[in-house]
Amino acid sequence: MTKLKTKLIHGGISTDQTTGAVSVPIYQVSTYKQNALGQPKDYEYSRSGNPTRHALEALIADLEEGVQGFAFGSGLAGIHTVLSLFEPGDHIIMADDVYGGSFRLMDKVFSKLGIRYDLVDMSDLSAIEVAFKPETKAVYVETPSNPLLKILDIEKIAGLAKEHQALTLVDNTFATPYLQRPLTLGADVVMHSATKYLGGHSDVVAGLVVAKSHELAERIAFLQNSIGGVLGPQDSWIVQRGIKTLALRMEAHSKAAMKIAEFLEGHPAVAKVYYPGLASHPGHEIAKKQMATFGGMLSFELVDEGAVKGLVEGLSYFTLAESLGGVESLIEVPAVMTHASIPKDIRESIGIKDGLIRLSPGIEDLDDLLDDLKTGLEGI
Ligand SMILES: *Cc1c(COP(=O)(O)O)cnc(C)c1O
Repeated sequence: MTKLKTKLIHGGISTDQTTGAVSVPIYQVSTYKQNALGQPKDYEYSRSGNPTRHALEALIADLEEGVQGFAFGSGLAGIHTVLSLFEPGDHIIMADDVYGGSFRLMDKVFSKLGIRYDLVDMSDLSAIEVAFKPETKAVYVETPSNPLLKILDIEKIAGLAKEHQALTLVDNTFATPYLQRPLTLGADVVMHSATKYLGGHSDVVAGLVVAKSHELAERIAFLQNSIGGVLGPQDSWIVQRGIKTLALRMEAHSKAAMKIAEFLEGHPAVAKVYYPGLASHPGHEIAKKQMATFGGMLSFELVDEGAVKGLVEGLSYFTLAESLGGVESLIEVPAVMTHASIPKDIRESIGIKDGLIRLSPGIEDLDDLLDDLKTGLEGI
């Protein structure tokens, strides 16, 4: 079987079918000339299908080892389409520290349509077991989670879901298929914010979804075309271009995150570090089993919560910004930024403290990044 690093370059549709161009061109077009009345060629209309988007969709399906991929105008547009598989009365078990926007989508949009959910700490399998109801149709997993880097055992959770005839949906944004392929562990649908590591350069907002079965692929294809939140050809090209270097970038991000986590863990101004690569992390053993490396994201808490503002505003190479997974290092405070859409009481009950700081190390020289943090911590 072709190895993943090779698939990143040659997977899906990597060359133009008509000209042989070694990168699939940007087919900036909305409609296609038909052969005869009622006889379109491969494409009819770019919401339903576009060759550039199709190349990206075929690539992500190949990388995640699913049957079909789908590209959307944002990660949330993709998640919205997947959640549209469900009906009023259906119940979904959702991991308790999913991305704030995914929680908001469930809590403020799908709840209104009669879809019910419970938030569950899925690192405790018995807590999932008791959350199942006769109406439970899906288990929604994110691992490593955002921002606490909780590790969930996809294989075990998917096994439980199957016993209850529920689907397993996995947001694989943090790991990417380079580190972990949920469909091979029993999941049914994988979702991505391609805005993050897949795009990799903080220059595009995009979402990707992959289905494991033809039956699910057919339903998601119908919803993608019916709802219409598709990714444009230009952005599809940019994401495909980003994916080509995913292996190199994920190796560098993971190496940087490991070194920074070790540095922070040994620093007296730091109270706690969340990184699955540390032996002290409760999900370390599962991460070792299910991921190729431990990923690029980490979070930490300072001993003095009052020093957070000074630290995050004072660094040279870590830019204070939302988002993650780009070549440049970013720093943020989830309670105020990415996770502000989660009410404070829920945030606190799941362990996202106001002083929690999240880092997305980029691919700059690691010594510069470590020096930057060292200087920043000395100054607080
Ligand atoms: C950013 C993010 C999303 C949402 O994706 P957008 O591209 O911003 O719409 C979903 N899940 C995770 C884990 C994310 O980090």
